[in-house]
Amino acid sequence: MYEKESLTHQSKKIPLCTKCGVKPSVYFRPYSGERLCKSCFIDSIEFRVERTISRFDMFKFNSRIAVAVSGGKDSLNLLRILWRLEEKYPKAELIVASVDEGIKDYRNEALKFVKESCKQYDIELQVLSFKELYGLTLDEIVVKTMNKELTPCSYCGVLRRRALNQIAKRIDADVIATAHNLDDIAQTALLNLIRGDLNRFSTVYPVSTRIQGFVRKVKPYCEIPERESAMLAYLTEIKFQSIPCPYSESAMRNDIRRFLNKMESKRPGTMFTIYKTSLNLISAKVGKEEEKIRLCEICGEPSQTKICRTCELLKEIKKR
Ligand SMILES: [Zn+2]
Ligand SMILES: [Zn+2]
Repeated sequence: MYEKESLTHQSKKIPLCTKCGVKPSVYFRPYSGERLCKSCFIDSIEFRVERTISRFDMFKFNSRIAVAVSGGKDSLNLLRILWRLEEKYPKAELIVASVDEGIKDYRNEALKFVKESCKQYDIELQVLSFKELYGLTLDEIVVKTMNKELTPCSYCGVLRRRALNQIAKRIDADVIATAHNLDDIAQTALLNLIRGDLNRFSTVYPVSTRIQGFVRKVKPYCEIPERESAMLAYLTEIKFQSIPCPYSESAMRNDIRRFLNKMESKRPGTMFTIYKTSLNLISAKVGKEEEKIRLCEICGEPSQTKICRTCELLKEIKKR
């Protein structure tokens, strides 16, 4: 009996790749039913990123692209894909933009991986630190704002966005590419729905509205699920920062992540549906219209309000 069973087990073959029909599959994609071999899997991700770029008209043939790279798997995957695509567009240029928030034993580790990749691909790296820009590291900000309402992530998010924009302006980039994945987008969409924040809801759109003074932001990685991003990093043997940031995200986002992961495993395709529905909800105008904007009375940077969000937070941080 025992022998018979182990024999049947041995004769069970690994299913072949449904795309090429030749090689054994290494990945099953629940939402499409595909089984993919290593090379078809890698190709499919690259193809999808390229399709997103052209569908949303993200780059021009001669764009100077600042790629925001944190040192995590998503941004290093995106960098590798853009670097490969760049071969087809010899007039386009990639520059890596990294923000050093000043998180001890975390960001410095991650930046090592960024530096290694830049060296490997021969791409220029520009780093800007919170310390340099705001006079404080995130660690110092966290201590100063310990008893305040906002979480470290809220401060960090706003300050990092400004820092990225500063790097992009400094290197004269005409677009910033960030590596938000499908899970990030679906989470943000639900988060803003639940909070009732329709203004921020439009930030899930893959290209930002053109606003004077802000370098345009695009999300070429927005159709890649987190799970596939992890598989891609594994198959391409990318070295990346795998420990999570010590400042955990908002409790609400964590709840939504857990909920979405459960929905996705029970009902494959849920995240894609949320993404596509969000695109339909956001007016087609987004990303095309040039918005008029005023300048912040304190820092002189573009802002929709009299005093920009960055200066508001900095004022609050330095109050104590
Ligand atoms: Zn294949
Ligand atoms: Zn300001």
